[in-house]
Amino acid sequence: MQGNTTQYNKTGLAAAVLLALGMATMTGCASTASNRATSAATNAATSAATSAAANSAANSAANTAANSALAPATAAPAASANQFPDYLTIAPGTLPLVFSVPHGGNVKLADAPERAKGTKVQDDRVNELAAAIQRHLLAKSGRQAYLVGANISRKYIDFNRKAEDAYEAPSAAPVYDAYYGALRSAIDTVRTQPGALLVDIHGQSLDRGAIFRGTGSGLTAHNAPFYTTPDGLITRLEAGGLNVLPKAAEDKETHFSGGTIVRVFGVQTPQGIDSVQLEFGANWRAGAERIEQTAAVVADALLAHLRAAGYR
Ligand SMILES: [Zn+2]
Repeated sequence: MQGNTTQYNKTGLAAAVLLALGMATMTGCASTASNRATSAATNAATSAATSAAANSAANSAANTAANSALAPATAAPAASANQFPDYLTIAPGTLPLVFSVPHGGNVKLADAPERAKGTKVQDDRVNELAAAIQRHLLAKSGRQAYLVGANISRKYIDFNRKAEDAYEAPSAAPVYDAYYGALRSAIDTVRTQPGALLVDIHGQSLDRGAIFRGTGSGLTAHNAPFYTTPDGLITRLEAGGLNVLPKAAEDKETHFSGGTIVRVFGVQTPQGIDSVQLEFGANWRAGAERIEQTAAVVADALLAHLRAAGYR
């Protein structure tokens, strides 16, 4: 176990994996917990190695088209069990925040070919970015977001597409459904809390210096509060030095305007919440030090957003 713990720290997935480990341990599945931890550490190590070697590409260009708030961080989680620990990272949270990270994985789907159609490029280092945001949230608030992330490669499943376009192998269907089930479970848990927010985290290579907001130009989230001074989400991102486009709440989103995930779970749907896709350019995730800087600003902005909405 000690060896695994060391690997988590190196790969930056410590918080999520330890939460998952804690969840399994508390439900009495010690051997399952060990297997999950080993699997997750292996995935993380593989992911880190691949990310270091790979170059960013036009990964998300197609996106254009398209338990209690007071519970301490150590409370028993209410998240659904992860049936596919090799393919998905699912971590319970204690803040009314839900992170989705659909394109950061590089694990192969067993005994299945790659998709013949669709964008298959990995979003580099977004899993590491999400894990870093979680660490900063924990350090600043003692609490974390719910996290649903892909370990499996986009070559097999693109979770930010409708099912008919997301995968081709029949064995991918239950993994796709589990991703959406975990998001639904988390959103149902946080939905009535002040400031409840889904953040769908991506990396884009169209503009290295930009972070594109994607809400269907105000369809999937109420954008105006994000721009209020001084504690709006995007106001705080900008104050922290991040470059979020477009620059005003009423501006139309011309690139990466939000994919399937924010449109399925957005505030315009009956059981939805404010949902924003954030597409980070390469500059904001260019190495471990920069990821820490970016993550610190994002965590600060998310906590300011929650406070401004009345969350305590
Ligand atoms: Zn993406």
